[in-house]
Amino acid sequence: MFKALQVTNIDGKTCASISLIDEEELPKSEVTIEVHYSTINYKDALAIKGAAPILRFFPMVPGIDLSGVVTHSESSEFSKGDWVVLNGFGVGEKHWGGLSEKACLQSDWLIPLPKSLTAKQSMVIGTAGYTAMLSVLALEKQNVMPNSGDILVTGANGGVGNFAIILLNRLGYKVVASTGRLEEANHLKALGATEVIDRQSLSEPGKPLQKERWAGVIDCVGSHTLANACASTQYGGVVTACGLAQGMDFTASVAPFILRGVKLIGIDSVMRPKQDRIEAWQRLSDLLQEKDFESLYTEVTLEEVEETAYKLLDGKVRGRVLVNMKPD
Ligand code: NAP
Repeated sequence: MFKALQVTNIDGKTCASISLIDEEELPKSEVTIEVHYSTINYKDALAIKGAAPILRFFPMVPGIDLSGVVTHSESSEFSKGDWVVLNGFGVGEKHWGGLSEKACLQSDWLIPLPKSLTAKQSMVIGTAGYTAMLSVLALEKQNVMPNSGDILVTGANGGVGNFAIILLNRLGYKVVASTGRLEEANHLKALGATEVIDRQSLSEPGKPLQKERWAGVIDCVGSHTLANACASTQYGGVVTACGLAQGMDFTASVAPFILRGVKLIGIDSVMRPKQDRIEAWQRLSDLLQEKDFESLYTEVTLEEVEETAYKLLDGKVRGRVLVNMKPD
């Protein structure tokens, strides 16, 4: 038997509870993993609350991220004892996910845990840090360099935002962090932001073209914030869009794109090809230092996941939430 968080849906009502599950019930695949750590991402919180149609069938074990050790493998790619990381691929949405002591997954969804990271550090990073890295890589690939100008990071106190600030700062970029929690300004500056601005300055409908301010933007919130970020990006600048914390809408004009050559790049982490994942995780392990992890996360047990997910959706959680599947 193993323990997992299971989400059911009865008459349209979502219910999450800790279940003891028989090994035989674990959906079969190539690689069985003893999960050591998982996380709670924004998407997991939505799934647990039933606040968005994330889960495709029930009962479902949510958790889009996990790290752990292989206990059985029918794949030539992984052997018993290998440490692995999983982000996305529909795991925790349409395949039983990481908020469980055990998972059984396809080998082509897994990547080896980079040597310089521990399983715990990999889940402090999780989909959030990996998505921040994909966003930074997108800026680099479009030739937005540290000397190009300021980079705006929106949703700065979230998981993606925190990692984006650390990574950009480490690479020498000047980062302006936008947040609704100005009381956390010192924390954002300690991570590497040079300036912190109130997110209200970006969250209301604005003019289609505004003063050219940003060489690049890593946007985590969508909606009017993304539209204003595009409108205030300098000639030839690049905006990456990964999130929808403010909203899924994007009521903007084409002016920044056709008059300033601004590029808007969508960032998807879920179905990202394996080669891109390996590149992103390698860069994360090269760039992050042990001290980066210290102030970035709160650790919870599986029993505390549901309550924490609700707090996360209320904007009451700073940074990342690590779920320890093997507390003492
Ligand atoms: P998170 O930890 O929950 O952070 C989201 C942040 O957005 C909050 O901390 C808050 O930052 C800001 N925010 C919340 N409500 C807002 C509102 N109404 N208006 C403006 N800002 C608001 O989530 P995350 O893990 O960083 O993820 C950020 C977003 O990216 C989410 O929408 C998530 O679903 C998405 N995401 C997408 C991918 C992908 O593959 N495309 C991967 C990972 C995440 P402040 O308190 O600093 O204002």
